[in-house]
Amino acid sequence: MTGSSTKKTVTLIPGDGIGPECVESARRIIDATGVAIEWEVRHAGESVFKQGIPSGVPPETIESIRKTRCVLKGPLGTPVGYGEKSANVTLRKLFETFANIRPVRELPGVPTPYSGRGIDLVVIRENVEDLYAGIEHLQTPGVAQCLKLISRKGCEKIVRLAFEFARSEGRKSVACATKSNIMKLTEGMLKRTFEEIAKEYPDIQAWHVIVDNCAHQLVKKPEQFDVIVTTNMNGDILSDLTSALVGGLGFAPSANLGNDVAIFEAVHGSAPKYAGKNIINPTAVIGSAIMMLRHLGELETAARVENALLVTLEEGKVRTGDVVGYDSGKAGTTTAFTDEIIRNLGRTPKSVTIRTYRPLQIPRLSSDPVSVRPQQRKVIGADVFVETGELPPVLGPALETLAQGTALKLKMVSNRGTQVYPDKGTMIDCVDHYRCRFVLREAQGELTDQQLLELLSRIGSRYRWVHVEKLQEFDGQPSYTKAQGED
Ligand code: NAP
Repeated sequence: MTGSSTKKTVTLIPGDGIGPECVESARRIIDATGVAIEWEVRHAGESVFKQGIPSGVPPETIESIRKTRCVLKGPLGTPVGYGEKSANVTLRKLFETFANIRPVRELPGVPTPYSGRGIDLVVIRENVEDLYAGIEHLQTPGVAQCLKLISRKGCEKIVRLAFEFARSEGRKSVACATKSNIMKLTEGMLKRTFEEIAKEYPDIQAWHVIVDNCAHQLVKKPEQFDVIVTTNMNGDILSDLTSALVGGLGFAPSANLGNDVAIFEAVHGSAPKYAGKNIINPTAVIGSAIMMLRHLGELETAARVENALLVTLEEGKVRTGDVVGYDSGKAGTTTAFTDEIIRNLGRTPKSVTIRTYRPLQIPRLSSDPVSVRPQQRKVIGADVFVETGELPPVLGPALETLAQGTALKLKMVSNRGTQVYPDKGTMIDCVDHYRCRFVLREAQGELTDQQLLELLSRIGSRYRWVHVEKLQEFDGQPSYTKAQGED
């Protein structure tokens, strides 16, 4: 029985390690439902890196995804010594799949320390920004930096999607998990955007939780959560944690959603030690395929597959090694587990019911790159990052002398974020990377590039400067944070 008579084409990427086994399992189950889906098999990951394609994603795979707009994929390994970037992250970013949806729920026949508590939650992870933009530099031979980029537009997209998702699944609350108490401008941007947009969804309870406490609460009382929206790295970590609450990575599906393309894959990786053994649990990829069916509008087929999966877990006639122990003598093969699900198509589980789903409307925001337009802005100084082995009592006075006669004066010097000059009586174990904050001598004025270049040329006569950040004010508000200990 199919939900639609129009044949849909899906790009199928078998992936690396255990990927082909998991993907084949999901594909066999979907084909057995008779739904009108055609698979276009394409490759990415290890085999592609080995061909010398540094991105791990060949043009024919990109071409297929551009056409089908929908992907079911196995995990991809990032082998050391080949491409520098993860092909997974590349795929997500190339097609702007800005949201990663990671649902977990208590499953019948999968005992865990949380069994009986009714865990049923979804982590919605921003998928293309944050530290995963992967913009890293060694600023000195011994000091590395990774840029944490968070945009207002990115926050608005993920927050709106989280509320729309909650509505599509009839969920009651959305928690926003951030580290805004420390990173006020980056993590704080998600919190502020969340609080603003939440007002448009009065039917959904909205609350903020600091991410470390969120991890604590998830272990202590996971049933209090419904939807959690969070930044990329927080979401990566929290969603591995939530998968462990319901039986482990073998049970954690995911969807990478964008306005144009959707990529469905397990949360887990290629688990190379199990590759080719026909023993792994394919549930996470099957769950991802169920999410894909819903995305394609095949709600009825999705429900048939989900019910058959739940019956199979509930009855436990065939269970995989991650549930019963690989050496227990009771573990069934991946193939046998798949066969059992196919046999159970058309049945409904006794102990659980599946949700009623409405199609998710993915909000489409303006494609204008500028999302915030202040009425006034001015540059009032600069942070100049300097590499030197000198200690603050030498460096500070030397910088003051170098700045004499320029438009700028030294306000303070910090080392890894803590003020070390003027001395505050602290005990800092300095490294050879200082941020030297210069501000205009005349508070009313605005710093010109010429004045900044003059300062840099003077600093460069004695020190190696490695990075410059302008200090700006937008509508009178500083666009930068103070150093620890700075007045
Ligand atoms: P992993 O492949 O997820 O495996 C970690 C552990 O999770 C396994 O050793 C196993 O635990 C358990 N596990 C994972 N999938 C399972 C399944 N289907 N059934 C049963 N148990 C399962 O993580 P990793 O070893 O850190 O990463 C391996 C490679 O995958 C790396 O190259 C990494 O970059 C890549 N990766 C890819 C993706 C992706 O494609 N989206 C995601 C994550 C990692 P036990 O050892 O306890 O049995």
